[in-house]
Amino acid sequence: MNFFSEIEKIIPPERIIVGESMDKYTTFRIGGRADVIVEPANSGEICALVELFNSVGTPYLVMGNGSNILVSDSGLDLPVIRIGKSMSEISLFETTVTAQAGAALSAVANFAMENSLAGLEFAAGIPGTVGGGVIMNAGAYDGELKNVVEAVSFVGPDGKEYVVSGDEMEFGYRTSALQDSGCIVTAVSLVLRPGKRTEIAEKMKELNSRRREKQPLEYPSAGSTFKRPAGHYAGTLIQEAGLKGYTVGGAAVSEKHAGFVINKGGATGADVLAVMDHVIKTVYDKSGVILEPEVKVWGKNQ
Ligand SMILES: Cc1cc2nc3c(=O)[nH]c(=O)nc-3n(C[C@H](O)[C@H](O)[C@H](O)COP(=O)(O)OP(=O)(O)OC[C@H]3O[C@@H](n4cnc5c(N)ncnc54)[C@H](O)[C@@H]3O)c2cc1C
Repeated sequence: MNFFSEIEKIIPPERIIVGESMDKYTTFRIGGRADVIVEPANSGEICALVELFNSVGTPYLVMGNGSNILVSDSGLDLPVIRIGKSMSEISLFETTVTAQAGAALSAVANFAMENSLAGLEFAAGIPGTVGGGVIMNAGAYDGELKNVVEAVSFVGPDGKEYVVSGDEMEFGYRTSALQDSGCIVTAVSLVLRPGKRTEIAEKMKELNSRRREKQPLEYPSAGSTFKRPAGHYAGTLIQEAGLKGYTVGGAAVSEKHAGFVINKGGATGADVLAVMDHVIKTVYDKSGVILEPEVKVWGKNQ
């Protein structure tokens, strides 16, 4: 059986990407070549892909906008299922917004605002998709998806479709029941509350300007590199350890926000990992706190 021609029976050629560098598909702008990236347009195509991958015994990776992923310089030898623009419809029923998993969180937040629905303002500046957002339980400024998710549709590793409630997602801090499970989120329903459009727009604007002021958005990154340890802020611990500006190759701890490792230009995955390792070790030596990466690291044989 020819693996690629089997994929072509499921996905049209314009949505199959062969042998491209992952730096084009991650906000870190880092990563070696991926053997194949497929961009499904509906859950039926996803089921068929999972069945194909299961039949040949190959694991697969799932990504959205690549805003929380660091891909190794040696690239990926597993097929990547990228849920993005081809699956990004957003619809409304009363106060429930349903978005396909590839819709950008910012687009869904804007859609909610246009329909005078409050509760998603916090997500307007998070550069991920709805699918990646629920997997990570993305949050900011006292809001998190956990608070608004009513139901999540996904394809399981058995290639079958499921729907679970927000409660069944077992959301925790930057985690959910479906994280690293082989499940592929296809759509999410969010229950919002009626509000004043101008107030919602104003809040989104204010949160986005706080982001621009505090975060090094002028450099590629994956946002906060580490999770917030209980009782601490990762950025403060890193700053107190004297690591602002710590650099390896093209990667550095941001001077503007120590919680961000940034790509200052030409950083490799190895540079970022070296900065992260040094930060974890130094923060532990200085404070006794173990920092845990929030960013997902992918490499060959992952
Ligand atoms: C500048 C910047 C600011 C950020 N600010 C925030 C913030 O304020 N709050 C916050 O929480 N995060 C923030 N992030 C991190 C990131 O945007 C979020 O984690 C986001 O939810 C990731 O979505 P994504 O679509 O990019 O997922 P990806 O990075 O592509 O994937 C992340 C994880 O989700 C999985 N995944 C993605 N899509 C699916 C799917 N459809 N089905 C199953 N699994 C899937 C992947 O396998 C991976 O494990 C920031 C990142 C950047 C670059």
